[in-house]
Amino acid sequence: MANRLGVHSLVWAGTWSVEDARRAVTLTRATGFDVLELALSDPACIDTAETRALLTEFNIAATGSLALPMEYDVSSEDLGAVRRGEGLLLAALTTMHALGADSLYGVLYSALGKYAQPCTSAGRRNAVGVVRSVADAAAERGMRLGLEVVNRYETNVFNTVADALRFVDEVGRDNVRLHLDTYHMNIEERGLADPVRTAGDRIGYVHVGESHRGYLGTGTVDFDAFFGALADVGYNGDITFESFSSAVVEPRLSSTLAVWRNLWDDAEDLARHARAFIGGRIAAAQVLAS
Ligand code: MN
Repeated sequence: MANRLGVHSLVWAGTWSVEDARRAVTLTRATGFDVLELALSDPACIDTAETRALLTEFNIAATGSLALPMEYDVSSEDLGAVRRGEGLLLAALTTMHALGADSLYGVLYSALGKYAQPCTSAGRRNAVGVVRSVADAAAERGMRLGLEVVNRYETNVFNTVADALRFVDEVGRDNVRLHLDTYHMNIEERGLADPVRTAGDRIGYVHVGESHRGYLGTGTVDFDAFFGALADVGYNGDITFESFSSAVVEPRLSSTLAVWRNLWDDAEDLARHARAFIGGRIAAAQVLAS
């Protein structure tokens, strides 16, 4: 089975009004992608009936990702925040189920932000417990979770594939996988091939982003090593392009991600370029692996 290629909704729009949704789905199809990833910062903002009808009209599949805000931090010792976070994760799961998706991705185990100290053991236990219970709720709907491995400035729970696998082992649920992202791996890993081989069939989702989060191939990410290793392990899941510029802003998420400067203005050109770049790397890696 071939990989489905996706694009993150923040390439197209910072909010999800009916007009934004139509434009985003239309442009996802026009630029040659199969999947549109929705940002689930506030799942209640997404009109699932309207969005599902649009996805069906243009034959686009939805994926969804979420990064918890600090006051919803499930890795906290504050049980109020832990319960709020669990509620938000369950709401996001319900939204994705209503959109016909079989998964939920992102930073589901921590808030997204710069922590001032390491995660405590009690905080880690809380995070493991919430991910386990959300995984069980997902399993009841035939869904799975992908935990995104992000850099040290965005979580203190884990920052490498090896540490993420230990966390997933503690959770102990078959429907919990890793969500890899080249932008974060480029900061934290020694290289991009070995972590992919280590994660192997436990990779559930992939984000492709450049070192500065702009045009692919204009930064320092070693995409040959990354796509080569994905071909080696036979990854056939979704691969989604992620890029952020001050040209498209989602007030909360953009600030959390420190999107302070303009990396591009022409989203359609960016997306067409990314589609060709990713397609070309996958094809080359398959030739080399065969
Ligand atoms: Mn990502």
